[in-house]
Amino acid sequence: MTAVETSATASAQAIELRRVRKDFEGHPVIQGVDLRIEPGEFCVFVGPSGCGKSTLLRLVAGLESPSAGEVLIGERDVTELAPRERGVAMVFQSYALYPHMTVHENIAFGLETGRGLGRAQIDAKVREAADRLELTPLLKRLPRQLSGGQRQRVAIGRAIVREPSVFLFDEPLSNLDAQLRVQTRLEIARLHQAMKTTMVYVTHDQVEAMTLADRIVVLNAGRIEQVGAPKELYQRPRNLFVAGFIGSAR
Ligand code: ADP
Ligand code: MG
Repeated sequence: MTAVETSATASAQAIELRRVRKDFEGHPVIQGVDLRIEPGEFCVFVGPSGCGKSTLLRLVAGLESPSAGEVLIGERDVTELAPRERGVAMVFQSYALYPHMTVHENIAFGLETGRGLGRAQIDAKVREAADRLELTPLLKRLPRQLSGGQRQRVAIGRAIVREPSVFLFDEPLSNLDAQLRVQTRLEIARLHQAMKTTMVYVTHDQVEAMTLADRIVVLNAGRIEQVGAPKELYQRPRNLFVAGFIGSAR
C-alpha cells in the first residue's frame, strides 16, 4: 500500500507496536501487543469495555508511555517526539470543545499557538474544513447552540486543520443518537477516502467496525485475539470470543 499525498495531509504514516505492554499500578492492561498499521489504512480496534482499547490508542498517540516495548510512528519512537512532531490528532467520545469559543475559534484553536500561520491562512484552513464537514453556516455559533452531531463534526474539523498524518478516534459516535451515528459514520468514511490518512478507530460497535475497517483488531483483556479484514473475521473467526464480537455466530 502506498501513501497518497493530498492537499489535506503531508503524508500518511505507518504505526508499529512492538511487544507493547502497559501496566497500571502493577496490573497489566496491555500485554505484549505486536501490530503494524500501514500508511493510509483504516484500522478498527474492537473489544468489550475495559479490554484496553483506549489505553492502546493513547499509547499510539504518545499520551501514555509503554511499560515495555515500543510504539513507532513512521520510523520514530512516539515517546521521543514532541507532541507537534507526532502528527497525531485525536477525536474523543466527549467533544471537548471550548464552551466560550465559536465554532470558528474552536476549529482554529490548535493553529493559533506557534505554527507561524497568518490570520488569513488560518481562516482559509478553517473554512476549508468547515466546508468539508458542512459547518459553514454554523461558524459563528457557540457549542451550546449545536446538536451533538454538529459538535462532533467541529471536533473532527479541529483535528483536520492540524493536517495529521495519523487520525485517532475513541468511540466518536457513542454520544450520538442512532440517525446521527449513521450520518457521522458515513462522514468519517468519506473523510478517510478524501484524506488517505492513517486512521485508528476504537469502538465496541460491530456495525461500525464492519463498515469502516480495512482491518479489524479484536482485543480481549489487553491481548489481540485476531486481526483481519472484516469479511475474514466474519467468515472465519478464530474462536468463540471473536465470533461473539463479529462472527456469524451473532
Ligand atoms: P476500554 O477503552 O477498552 O474500555 P481502557 O483502556 O479504558 O479500556 O481500560 C483498560 C483497563 O485499564 C481498565 O481496567 C481500566 O480500569 C484500566 N485503566 C485505564 N486507565 C487507567 C489509569 N490511568 N490508571 C489505572 N487504571 C487504568
Ligand atoms: Mg475506552
